[in-house]
Amino acid sequence: MAENLKMYIDGRWVEARSGATFVSTNPATGQALATVPRGGAEDVELAVTAARRAFDGGSWGSAVAERDRSRILFTMAQLVAEQRQELAELEVLDCGKPIADALGDIDEVSFMFEYYGGWATKISGDIPPVGPEAMSLIVKEPVGVCGLIVPWNYPMLMAAQKVAPALATGCTVVLKPAEQTPLTALRMAEIAEQAGVPAGVFNVVTGFGAEAGAPMLTHPGVDKISFTGSKAIGTMIQRTCADQLKRVTLELGGKSPNIIFADADLDRAVEGSAMGVFGNQGEVCSAGSRIFVHRSVYDEVLQGMTDVAAGMKLGSGLDPETTMGPLVSALQRDRVQAYIDAGPAEGANLVYSGRRPVDPALANGYFVPPTIFEATNEIRLAREEIFGPVAAVIPFSEVDEVVRLSNDTEYGLAAAIWTRDIGLALRTAKSVRAGVVWINDSQPAPSETMWGGYKQSGIGRELGRYALDAYLESKQIYINLS
Ligand code: ADP
Ligand code: MG
Repeated sequence: MAENLKMYIDGRWVEARSGATFVSTNPATGQALATVPRGGAEDVELAVTAARRAFDGGSWGSAVAERDRSRILFTMAQLVAEQRQELAELEVLDCGKPIADALGDIDEVSFMFEYYGGWATKISGDIPPVGPEAMSLIVKEPVGVCGLIVPWNYPMLMAAQKVAPALATGCTVVLKPAEQTPLTALRMAEIAEQAGVPAGVFNVVTGFGAEAGAPMLTHPGVDKISFTGSKAIGTMIQRTCADQLKRVTLELGGKSPNIIFADADLDRAVEGSAMGVFGNQGEVCSAGSRIFVHRSVYDEVLQGMTDVAAGMKLGSGLDPETTMGPLVSALQRDRVQAYIDAGPAEGANLVYSGRRPVDPALANGYFVPPTIFEATNEIRLAREEIFGPVAAVIPFSEVDEVVRLSNDTEYGLAAAIWTRDIGLALRTAKSVRAGVVWINDSQPAPSETMWGGYKQSGIGRELGRYALDAYLESKQIYINLS
């Protein structure tokens, strides 16, 4: 059995104060990968105290020259790039995804640090006019100590998406990776240490949500919580943080529509739509899991999607041939399988269901093959986020109808639209209540852009310059010149 890892608090590698540990497993085999400290309230206390001291005592934040913060982030970007292969393999072992996808994640992690390293020197305020006898300065300041709670589907990328803008703005952070996938967060701490991030600025507390995450929500030393994960935990976080009016950013789930119009380039639409729901094993908050298809191309699209699903190769993510890995945990497999099992009784028609891998070494892996249902928008399969490779395909006839169906959901994270008619594409894009709309594509999320949900998909925005706002306060300084 593999390593005993430590977590990173106040510039030191430490065990949990309680001495407790837990095991991170490889979801392709069910085998143990490493033991990790099982952090709790005492460890959060130490981490928040360290982050508070680093912020208030001037080893980061407004007391450090922006260009110095910038250079440290550039160094982190470079170190991630140098360790690209190793980090990607670690990610595959911990969460299951195919290696090509993991390499893509790690490349984006590196770019994320580069991108926000650039922003560190370019955040500026404003000077609104207030007449001849006065001057007003609006200055931007870091919000303070940030508790960053991240999920297991893109472990290092989701961590970087919060850590990079937080550090760029001058915040100090306590990162709580998901209990299913703590390994790359610990590597990020090593990289931060090597890059010269001062002690206390970047802390990682590993452990379970209720033990290592929840204490940050009520800790008076934490100014801001940024969370990506389930709607259930997100709403609880919002409610809990209200007591101290902590700033909150939430990136939650989705049940995103993927609309294929009759005039679409069908080869591209079919491939893109299939990958939009099956990519990353369907463990994607923005997965295009409701696939609306114009009746005139419905049979062709359904057949095409089935062909793509049948061509997917399930296996270990380390095998370069693999295009779909296992789900992250036995629990997640059981949740997804329960939706599949209940589908027919709820009125869905099972069109395709793939096979588990045959390799006996993977017999205990948490695989769920790609599954396609014909559905209506009313049934549970089309309403609840499944977070697995399950497509609900739904026919439509009219534009107004598909817009209405697309918006008939409590969520509003993303939407994909496939058509050659630019007017139709943009009219539809404007009508869909979602934070991200793709036209003739599905799922790209470059760091320079913007990400976030309408409705119950979240609060606030990430990526691009929008993420900076999540980690900044604005201060007005008014000067009487008379
Ligand atoms: P999932 O159910 O798919 O694991 P969660 O929303 O529970 O999704 O998990 C996302 C992140 O939120 C993880 O890091 C998890 O540990 C954390 N988390 C879960 N429960 C809590 C909680 N009660 N307080 C704070 N963080 C939590
Ligand atoms: Mg794991």
